[in-house]
Amino acid sequence: MPSKFFAYLFIVLFVIMEGIRLPHRARVSRSRRAGQMTETRVAGLESALMSLSFVGMYALPFVYAFSDWLSFADFRLPDWVGWLGTVAFGLGVWLLWRAHRDLGRNWSPSLEISQEQKLVTSGVYRAIRHPIYAAVMLSVIAQALMLSNWMAGPAGLAVYLPIYLLRVPREEAMMLETFGGDYREYMARTGRIFPRL
Ligand code: SAH
Repeated sequence: MPSKFFAYLFIVLFVIMEGIRLPHRARVSRSRRAGQMTETRVAGLESALMSLSFVGMYALPFVYAFSDWLSFADFRLPDWVGWLGTVAFGLGVWLLWRAHRDLGRNWSPSLEISQEQKLVTSGVYRAIRHPIYAAVMLSVIAQALMLSNWMAGPAGLAVYLPIYLLRVPREEAMMLETFGGDYREYMARTGRIFPRL
C-alpha cells in the first residue's frame, strides 16, 4: 500500500463519524439555548482535556495526512495492522450510529441531565452502558493502527484514555443520583464498554 493509504482511509472514516454526530450536536445547542438543561457537570480538568483532545484526535491526524511536517516520526507497519485498524474503526462507526439512534434525545456532549431525560436500557444499551465512549475508543485505537507515525498515531489514545477514565465514574454517579435503583440494577446486568451478554 502507498505510505499514506491508511491515513486517507482514516480521514474518510473520521469524516463519516463526525457526520453522524453533527445533527445531534446541533440539536443539543438548540436545546441549550432554550434553557432546557437542568443539570450540568463539566469539570475544569475535563474541559482542559477536551481542548487537548482536539489536538490529539483532530489536528494531528490531519496534519499527518496532508503535510510532511510529522515525517520525522514516521515508521513502517505491515498492511494487516492498517486493515485491523480499518475494521476497528468500521465497528466504531456502526456502534456510534446505533448508540445515537438508541439514546436519541438523551444524548449530550458533556455530563448533563435534561428535563425530559429517560433511562435508556434497550438496543446496544442492553449490553453496554457506554457504547458511544466505546465507539470513540475504537476510533483512537484505529488511529494508532492506521497512522504509522509516533506523533499522530498514539496521540488519540493518549488524550482520550484520561478523558474516559475521568468521565465514566462521574457519569455513573450522576445517573445513580438521577435514576437510583433503576440504574443500579442496569449496572449489574451490563458492562461498561465490553458487552455483558
Ligand atoms: N455514556 C453513554 C452516553 C454518552 S452521552 C455512551 O457512551 O453511550 C452522555 C450523556 O448521556 C450523559 O450526560 C447522560 O445524561 C446520558 N446518558 C448516559 N447513559 C444513559 C442511559 N443509559 N440512558 C439515558 N441517558 C444516558
